[in-house]
Amino acid sequence: MTTSPKAAPEVMEKLVSLCKRRGFIFQSSEIYGGAGSVWDYGPLGVELKRNIKELWWNAMVRARDDIEGLDAAILMHPRVWEASGHVAGFVDPLVDCKNCKKRFRADDPRIKGTPGAPDGQCPACGMKGTLSEPRQFNLMFKTFMGPVEDSASVAYLRPETAQGIYVNFLNVQQSTRQKVPFGIAQIGKAFRNEITPGNFIFRTREFEQMEMQFFVEPDDAPKWFDYWKAERMSWHRSLGIDQARLSYHEHSGAELAHYAKAAFDIQFDFGGTLGSQEIEGIHNRGDFDLTQHQAFSGKKLEYFDQPNNKRFLPWVIETSVGADRTTLAVLTNAYREESVAGEDEGRTVLALSPLIAPIKAGVFPLVKKDGMPEMAQKLSAELRAAFPVFYDDSGAIGRRYRRQDEVGTPFCVTVDGESLAEGTVTIRDRDTLQQIRLPAEQVRAHISERIAR
Ligand code: ATP
Repeated sequence: MTTSPKAAPEVMEKLVSLCKRRGFIFQSSEIYGGAGSVWDYGPLGVELKRNIKELWWNAMVRARDDIEGLDAAILMHPRVWEASGHVAGFVDPLVDCKNCKKRFRADDPRIKGTPGAPDGQCPACGMKGTLSEPRQFNLMFKTFMGPVEDSASVAYLRPETAQGIYVNFLNVQQSTRQKVPFGIAQIGKAFRNEITPGNFIFRTREFEQMEMQFFVEPDDAPKWFDYWKAERMSWHRSLGIDQARLSYHEHSGAELAHYAKAAFDIQFDFGGTLGSQEIEGIHNRGDFDLTQHQAFSGKKLEYFDQPNNKRFLPWVIETSVGADRTTLAVLTNAYREESVAGEDEGRTVLALSPLIAPIKAGVFPLVKKDGMPEMAQKLSAELRAAFPVFYDDSGAIGRRYRRQDEVGTPFCVTVDGESLAEGTVTIRDRDTLQQIRLPAEQVRAHISERIAR
């Protein structure tokens, strides 16, 4: 068996097609021509993304006693976004072409000359001197709360989940009696009216974030920053992402947000023109956020340290990762096309970790007679009680294996002639193609153990 690596742009195209064909991801409102850069997760995609979110929630909330979970609302008081700096600062500079009416980011490398000046040439229609001066465009989606559409009722769809955590800092701390250092974590939708969305689910206008804010004593912030940097990298590896495709990128100078004391991205190498890109940000935000909310709300947000009888605003170490972008990273990492020794047709495999694979086992009767379907159905029902299973009795057995390879199912269990006589079945491993024979009653424990490994 040999692997033939593909050029990345081709991989992305093939992934988009596989995801649609097999029910991972569909374009939103496709029958109407699609909604711009919005995607829907199909039956297999919702399982894959949910598995990723659950692994994050388990690692960040359930497996620790120093992080609490939260599910804050998407709509918040509009002052939140003034305090956070998003109303004034969450902007991209844009230029418009007065001739063809197209709109571009002011730093679009295809623009020739200077926007607003006679030499400014439009990358779409090619006219000179038609580009406007750059104007600031806010990326937040605006709407209205209540029946009146006036400026007093403006509301925003949150562009990040973090602010729901800051405004609930004391609610969570006091109700749980947590002591600094401790964290608050949540998973939820965020919305950004991105100017240059694209690359499938890499940059979309509606997406899901998994964010955690860790509140610490100011002097301890560097120590906790290093801790979370390492911890988050090992979480990405636990999803089965190859270490060689993961890296850190440190923000320095102009890249560093004005409030940030330090920031590192965890990057994944998507290959091709996209290359290494951020999938998670780890930031030392100082006390910027709590200071701002304290000033704008007029409510004290200080933490009271009882043993030392002192009040202070904790500093925040933030870890912020996109659920959709991580899903794209694991899909890209898993995609393989292989030729199989002794066979004319190659196979497409998603070598997903069994931990996140949407279906854990395929169960097949070798043929649709002689009691094999009944035995396979019974086994399938038994396995389904422990993990997601797909029962398939249609088509040649080789084709059924290929169908499961393509969606990342790590194990296929086949009931054959010997099964009826001996009570044993075969279990085929997706990656090695090795088959072992086991008594049917041991299959559930065997696969459960392999999934957890
Ligand atoms: P980028 O520079 O790629 O726009 P960012 O630095 O604005 O990202 P953050 O605000 O730090 O991103 O958001 C944290 C994480 O949320 C990102 O690492 C990414 O995984 C995810 N994310 C942000 N914007 C989008 C988007 N438009 N579509 C999908 N995921 C996103």
